[in-house]
Amino acid sequence: MVELKTQREIDAMRAAGKVVADALAAVREHAAVRVRLNELDQVARDVLARAGATSPFLGYQPSFASSPFPAVICTSVNDAALHGIPGRRRLAEGDLLSVDCGATLHGWTGDAAISLIVGEPQEADVRLIETAESALRAGIAAAVVGAKLGDISAAIGTIGRAAGYGINTDYGGHGIGRTMHEAPSVPNEGRPGRGMTLRAGMTIAIEPWFLSGGQDSYRVDPDGWTLRSGDSSRAAHVEHTIAVTNDGPLVLTAA
Ligand code: MG
Ligand code: MG
Repeated sequence: MVELKTQREIDAMRAAGKVVADALAAVREHAAVRVRLNELDQVARDVLARAGATSPFLGYQPSFASSPFPAVICTSVNDAALHGIPGRRRLAEGDLLSVDCGATLHGWTGDAAISLIVGEPQEADVRLIETAESALRAGIAAAVVGAKLGDISAAIGTIGRAAGYGINTDYGGHGIGRTMHEAPSVPNEGRPGRGMTLRAGMTIAIEPWFLSGGQDSYRVDPDGWTLRSGDSSRAAHVEHTIAVTNDGPLVLTAA
């Protein structure tokens, strides 16, 4: 069941999305060598609290997880791609950090992610992040009324594969609205012209994550959450929540 949102509801989701954007901007500002990941979580908590928003991440326990998620952001470092728990680890020179954040405001939810490099960047990491960002832009551009879900997936997957990166479709984009994860699922690879037709009022999170080693496999840490590339290569993850509208795709988690 896909719920089409009214203009007023999309405006409300934009307000939630702005809180997510503000939290991610604050985390980006604070991320530096020697900073602990749990300090970044506190930065995001403060932004959500000041906005009167709650976190859809905190206490979240989907079927794959053995314990509730303990933070308001996911912090995934280097070979970690998704769902990293922000613990006491300190960021180090050249670390590639992916940060995923959500916020719920007045009953509506936003979800977005950024990847960044701490300190002196390695060329390969810059390329990985730029490619993921390019795939995100292409996925968003494909989210127009009358197109198919597969057009979004194909736009993302084509860019990732052309760069030689691994893609795994166990986790990817999703419908979003009153809750964080709703139908439909939006895989990061697929065939154009296939799947559900996009309609005005659909709101979805689009979130490419690429594995730089070129393999598609991953493994999960004993913590039950942190998802790492199977070959220990670095990963990047970026995400926006968008609305499909008659005026084209609208990014609800833009700064
Ligand atoms: Mg997310
Ligand atoms: Mg998401």
